[in-house]
Amino acid sequence: MAIKDQPQPPRFRQISNIVLLLSSLFLLANIFLPNLLGPQIPQVPYSLFVHQVQEQDVVRASVGQNEIRYQLKGEGDKPGQVLSTTPIFDLELPKLLQEKGVEFAATPPSKNGWIGSVLSWVVPPLIFVAIFQFFMNRGGGGPQGALSIGKSKAKVYVEGESAKITFADVAGVEEAKTELVEVVEFLKTPDRFTAIGARIPKGVLLVGPPGTGKTLLAKAVAGEAGVPFFSISGSEFVELFVGVGSARVRDLFEQAKKQAPCIIFIDELDAIGKSRSTNAAFGGNDEREQTLNQLLTEMDGFAAGNTTVIVLAATNRPESLDAALLRPGRFDRQVLVDRPDLSGREAILNIHSQKVKLGPDIDLKAVATRTPGFSGADLANLVNEAALLAARNKRLTVAQEDFYEAFERVVAGLEKKSRVLNEKEKKIVAYHEVGHAMVGAVMTGGGEVAKISIVPRGMAALGYTLQLPTEDRFLLDESELRGQIATLLGGRSAEEVVFGSITTGASNDLQRATDLAERMVTTYGMSKVLGPLAYDRAQQSFLGDGMGNARRAVSAQTAEAIDQEVKEIVETAHQQALDILKTNRELLETITQKLLETEVVEGEALHKLLAEVRPLDQVAA
Ligand code: ADP
Ligand code: MG
Ligand code: ZN
Repeated sequence: MAIKDQPQPPRFRQISNIVLLLSSLFLLANIFLPNLLGPQIPQVPYSLFVHQVQEQDVVRASVGQNEIRYQLKGEGDKPGQVLSTTPIFDLELPKLLQEKGVEFAATPPSKNGWIGSVLSWVVPPLIFVAIFQFFMNRGGGGPQGALSIGKSKAKVYVEGESAKITFADVAGVEEAKTELVEVVEFLKTPDRFTAIGARIPKGVLLVGPPGTGKTLLAKAVAGEAGVPFFSISGSEFVELFVGVGSARVRDLFEQAKKQAPCIIFIDELDAIGKSRSTNAAFGGNDEREQTLNQLLTEMDGFAAGNTTVIVLAATNRPESLDAALLRPGRFDRQVLVDRPDLSGREAILNIHSQKVKLGPDIDLKAVATRTPGFSGADLANLVNEAALLAARNKRLTVAQEDFYEAFERVVAGLEKKSRVLNEKEKKIVAYHEVGHAMVGAVMTGGGEVAKISIVPRGMAALGYTLQLPTEDRFLLDESELRGQIATLLGGRSAEEVVFGSITTGASNDLQRATDLAERMVTTYGMSKVLGPLAYDRAQQSFLGDGMGNARRAVSAQTAEAIDQEVKEIVETAHQQALDILKTNRELLETITQKLLETEVVEGEALHKLLAEVRPLDQVAA
């Protein structure tokens, strides 16, 4: 697909540009030409000039503000050499010249001077205007030319030979693809639908977490349908000046209607489509509201006509959109673009690893198994990281281990070999991580412990324990959540068991454990005391972007009960973790010693060690 900016610059602007160019050239010529073309006069230091005057070698001098030109005495008939010097502020000079019998005069101001001074008044504003124009028209000006602030910045993708994106480039979102295939059909053969009397949908909203391929899908639709594709991001509508955004919307739709059938793609729709009621609390945002209203008007407007313009939009925050946008006739079709499942991830890995050279041992399915929750963009990034690693290690193909190392980089950050822990710290970190691993090995809900490492990584992790899911999970039950909390507390518990004291290293674990416990109580209704009520405001969408976790208004007693329950859950889990580690005290020692020796324990060796951990119910029995 080729990208080109839409409208041509209008005549008027071309002319003004030419005028500007000429005047700039003229100014430059004025400054430089006299020096270039004029006779080359040797420059000498001022002191030499004064010396020569004193020696009475100078016949005449012409004193200007910026330059003194003077002529030396000639020999016989030959006229003397002409030299020039830069004057310093010297009130004694006239007296000296007079004393030494030098004929002197002041230089009249240069004849070009007035042009220079006129230009110095005229040119800077012109340059200013030019810069202003440049910014206003960046990304495509409008037909009215100069100062067309309100013109749309939409980029148009025209179907081209090069790099056409099709549905084959998108994987793991089969349902979304099926829906969009239909949109392509509409665009290709609208008659087939209108003949039956079916109304062609106007707005299709792609909804999903970031990086799942919404933008990619929209481009694929354009590529498949072979129609012009106007692409603009919602944030580009939001301007400082009230009214500019809405003018852009109007202009965008005008252009699109001329090119029908075509697609308008508004990325990040939430930037303009935020619910109007929510900002009203902050005094509203006139500019965004007007832009949104204009968008609604335009969508209604062409619903009446018969133009085949389909508006695609993407957002990762559907819950924040204004309800008016989702009404029939507007974005009445919503297509969910979710994170890919296991086979989807494998397919996406396949697509992206086509561009890299893979070694013979590659098992993309195994990579896919390790990466639940990864979006398409994460996977694309993973493939690239793996390729970078292979290149850095001077290998010709990417090996499976590159993928694994890349995976750890993505989830845990870069290895920081330079961060040196002292022996004591190393020991604490080792016990801490083995604590996580051992509790994780017997508690459900966290996946299989695949690796323990005390090589520092990333911003904060001094060591880490890698738990890999064995399958994609969509629902977790209460015992699994409790298991996860216990595992999170395993690190701190190990420190308690071994050292009897705790360090600052566990703060992130505690944070996550407490969050999880709180969600069990307030969101999932898993508390017997508080019952199946949602105490949070449920503003979290299915995307779980962590936005707005405000609590419903609750009585003081309820708030207290919630705190009580959260504490109870965390405490119970903590006790479980302690119990597990205490009953497996020797094993804790064995694994930690091994970890301290090798810094990393993984694979079969780790599996064997952890298989020996005795679970709690066995102990209780
Ligand atoms: P979104 O718009 O949903 O935030 P993008 O479409 O911008 O995500 O995705 C970013 C990049 O990630 C894409 O250009 C593509 O390389 C990769 N990607 C994301 N999702 C997929 C997918 N489903 N299949 C293939 N590649 C994907
Ligand atoms: Mg996007
Ligand atoms: Zn920890």
